[in-house]
Amino acid sequence: MRQHLMPTYQRLPVAFERGEGAWLWDQDGRRYLDALSGIAVCGLGHNHPTVTAAIQEQAARLLHTSNIYRIPLQERLGAELCRLAGMDAAFFCNSGAEANEAAIKLARLHGRRRGVELPTIVVAEGSFHGRTLATLTATGNAKVRQGFEPLVAGFIRVPYGDSAAVEALADDPSVVAVLVEPIQGEGGINVPPPGYLASLRALCDCQGWLLMLDEIQTGMGRTGRWFAHQHEDIVPDVMTLAKALGNGVPIGACLARGEAAALFGPGMHGTTFGGNPLACRAALAVIEAMERDGLVERAAQLGERLLSDFRDRLRDVAGVTAIRGRGLMLGIALDRPCGELVQQALAQGLLINVTAERVVRLLPPLILDDDQATQLVDTVTALIENFLTATSPAGTEVGAS
Ligand SMILES: *Cc1c(COP(=O)(O)O)cnc(C)c1O
Repeated sequence: MRQHLMPTYQRLPVAFERGEGAWLWDQDGRRYLDALSGIAVCGLGHNHPTVTAAIQEQAARLLHTSNIYRIPLQERLGAELCRLAGMDAAFFCNSGAEANEAAIKLARLHGRRRGVELPTIVVAEGSFHGRTLATLTATGNAKVRQGFEPLVAGFIRVPYGDSAAVEALADDPSVVAVLVEPIQGEGGINVPPPGYLASLRALCDCQGWLLMLDEIQTGMGRTGRWFAHQHEDIVPDVMTLAKALGNGVPIGACLARGEAAALFGPGMHGTTFGGNPLACRAALAVIEAMERDGLVERAAQLGERLLSDFRDRLRDVAGVTAIRGRGLMLGIALDRPCGELVQQALAQGLLINVTAERVVRLLPPLILDDDQATQLVDTVTALIENFLTATSPAGTEVGAS
C-alpha cells in the first residue's frame, strides 16, 4: 500500500492492536512486554481501569468547551498538580514542546520585567526540549537543529551536570533563566552529580534567574518521586510536564511558582485545545490511581531492584560502560552503537529503546510486576551479552571484513 505519511519516523515493522497493563498485542495476536511505555507516556500501563473508566464517562458527558469559559476539571487538575509539586499556578497545553514554549515565554517576560532587552536562557549540552523552533533551538543535539536555521535567538549552552559552568555566566547581564532536565532522557539517561539542582537553585536565587526544570520525561513518578527535583529537596520556579500526565491522552502543563506564576496576563498566551475537560479528566484519574496504589513508591522500589539486578548481571561484562538511572528511568550504556538491539528485542517479544546511539533505554510502566521485571532483566541481559559477543566495538560484525 502506498504510504501517505511524511517519513518523519523510521518505524519498526509492527503495529499494536490492544494493550493490558505492561502487555501489548500486535495484529497477529503476538504478545510483547512493554518496557518503554510509549516513551514514558503510559506510566500506568495500557488500558488502566481507572483511566479508561474516567475517559469513557467524560467522553459521554463533555469533550471540549473553550478556555474562554471556566473549566472546573482544569481548575481541579491545576490544584492537584500544585499540591503535589509545591507550585502556585498551571497553564495547560497539549504536548511537551508546548509546555516548554510557555516556559520560554515566561523567562522572556521575567527578563523584560527586569529591564533586560534581549533575555538569554541557559540550556545544556545533550538536552532535549522538543521540536518547535524555540524548543529545538534549546535542544542540545545538532541533528535536531540541522536544516532549520535560522534558529531562535536568546539561548546559551553549557555542559550538563556542571554547575560551575552556569555560575561562570553570573556576570552576563542578559541571562534570565536556566532550563535543564533533572535527568536527561533522550540524551542518554544522563544523571547529573548529586547537588547539581540544589546548586542551580542557589545560583538562580542569588542572581534572580528563573530555575526552569523540564520534567516532561522525569515527572509523574517516573524516577521514584512525583517529580525528579524532589530528590534534592528543591522547588523550581517553573516546571514543565507532559508525557505521563494523561497516560496517553495528550496533555502538557507548565507550572510556575511565586513571581513567575503571575507573569502571564489575559491575552498573553493561549491554546484552543489545552486543558480541555477530557484531557484534564484523564490526568486527574492518573493522579488518583497513582496515589491510591502507591505507584510512586513502587517506581522507587522496583527501580532500585532493576538497577541492582542489571549491575549484578552486567557490571563485569566487557563492552558495558555504565548502568545508570533513577526509579524506572534506566540506561545501559555500551561501548558501541547498538540500535539493532531494538529489533532483536522486538523479535523476542520485548519493547525497548536505544538513545544517543549506544544507550539501551528502559522506561517500563510503574505497574510492572515482579515477574515481568524478572523477564525484563533476563531478556535484556541475554540480548546485550549476545550482541557484545557478535560485534566489535567499532560496531562491525565479528568475522565480517
Ligand atoms: C518528550 C520530551 C519533550 C517533548 O515533548 P513532546 O510532547 O514530544 O513535544 C520535551 N522534553 C523532554 C525532556 C522530553 O522527554
